[in-house]
Amino acid sequence: MIKCFKKSLSKKISLTSLQWVLLILSVFNLLVYIGVTRVFLAQDRYNTEQATEVVREFLSKETSLTEGNLLDLLEQFNATGSLVEDGNKTYVFDKQGGIDDLIFDNQDVSIYDKNKQLVLTTNKVLSTIKIGKVGETTTHRSPAFSGFYQSEKVYSKDSREVIGYVTVYQGFASYYMARHALVAILLVSELIEACLIFKLLMVVSHRSLKPLRDFQAFLEELSENPSDLALRSDIKSGDDIEKLSATFDNMLEQIEGYAKRQTRFVSDVSHELRTPIAVIKGHLGLLQRWGKDDPEILCESLDAAYHEADRMSIMVNDMLDMVRVQGSFDLHKGEITDLRQAIEVVLGNFRILYPDFRFSLTSTIDDCIYAEIYKHHFEQAILILIDNGVKYSSGSKNIHVTLDVLGDDAIVKVRDEGEGISQDDLNHIFERFYRTDKSRNRVSTQGGLGIGLAILKQIVDAYNLKVSVSSVVDEGTEFTLVIPRVMAE
Ligand code: ADP
Repeated sequence: MIKCFKKSLSKKISLTSLQWVLLILSVFNLLVYIGVTRVFLAQDRYNTEQATEVVREFLSKETSLTEGNLLDLLEQFNATGSLVEDGNKTYVFDKQGGIDDLIFDNQDVSIYDKNKQLVLTTNKVLSTIKIGKVGETTTHRSPAFSGFYQSEKVYSKDSREVIGYVTVYQGFASYYMARHALVAILLVSELIEACLIFKLLMVVSHRSLKPLRDFQAFLEELSENPSDLALRSDIKSGDDIEKLSATFDNMLEQIEGYAKRQTRFVSDVSHELRTPIAVIKGHLGLLQRWGKDDPEILCESLDAAYHEADRMSIMVNDMLDMVRVQGSFDLHKGEITDLRQAIEVVLGNFRILYPDFRFSLTSTIDDCIYAEIYKHHFEQAILILIDNGVKYSSGSKNIHVTLDVLGDDAIVKVRDEGEGISQDDLNHIFERFYRTDKSRNRVSTQGGLGIGLAILKQIVDAYNLKVSVSSVVDEGTEFTLVIPRVMAE
């Protein structure tokens, strides 16, 4: 049963991407926040400096900044004021007066005489802050006041003497407000951006994952009909999923081909086994009924049963060989074989088994030729080729083997003058269980089960050899093996 997942892949991708986008946006917004607040502060500092300069310039028209000319000053500022008595007499005047032209709303100003005694102020609370370092903008933080303030000496334009001091205060209140507004704007914009980006990501990922959903649907269909190996996903998305689909389809094609060959093999084996089993059964029945007492029938039936059992054993051995060879390569790595000697051993055996055949070995090189291949595997490869030459030569009984050297390779050719192989069949003869029609139509198992050349191919692949074949129907076949040589020490 297919498990249902709550989170779709597109949602998962969108959420993961969104996390990254949010992170990047947050970093970006943080940088914007830091940059903009710095600009705000720099602006406030500049405004403080400017206002100090302007008020100082304005006051420099006076000859002295003393209590005596307070009223004069107030008049100049076109402002109303009140006298506050707290030990020192101080005038606090209304900012809405003429001083408005000199300083901003969020600024205050205090004026001192040359003995640093407060003369006039727009804010009594601020005037408690001592005159700071003259000419420098100082940051002040206290419950009463948070902000910048700057003090400057006031020189009389006439006498060029110091007549007093002026301090301008610029509170952080407006900076804090701007900062809060900035945070709110950045947060809201990030939220809106996140929603829009998530929506966009969902749409894009949903669209780009469509081929994957198609592939999944195909897999579900395949799992419902596992025997239908003709099914293909055939997705054309032009991306990795198309590649995956093509690989999968290719695999299905191979499995389908393999399954077909297996089925054909099973039917071939059962077809081939049916005849010897029927023959053995027939003869045993004959013996059971009356053959035991007739020495002639007894002998004939035993002979026939033995012969058929022999055929069956050849077939079973063929199949076992195939399985065995596959598992034996790793055991014999690095073994060196004298190729000529091995070929001669195989030819010697064939000469005994088939005295009516002529087996020849020719070579233009007299020296020994060595290759890194396990002797038994090389002999088996040659045996398969010569055995096929014998099996598929009905007329001429000549089998020629040549051993030569080309560069770093040894070249072994096995040629017969038999029935040959058609061009169509040549493309398939190395496949497991493949037999040409001619071979399949043989009544006996003499034609083999289509396993020999598959075993040869296993050997060729395991040792990185090369094999090729050329054939002319009714004239003969030539197999060529190319084997990398090793030099004799
Ligand atoms: P088999 O055991 O049937 O011979 P092989 O794998 O050795 O299986 O060969 C596959 C098929 O290739 C054979 O069935 C045969 O039809 C064809 N074949 C192989 N060698 C030769 C040859 N020398 N001459 C003609 N046909 C051949």
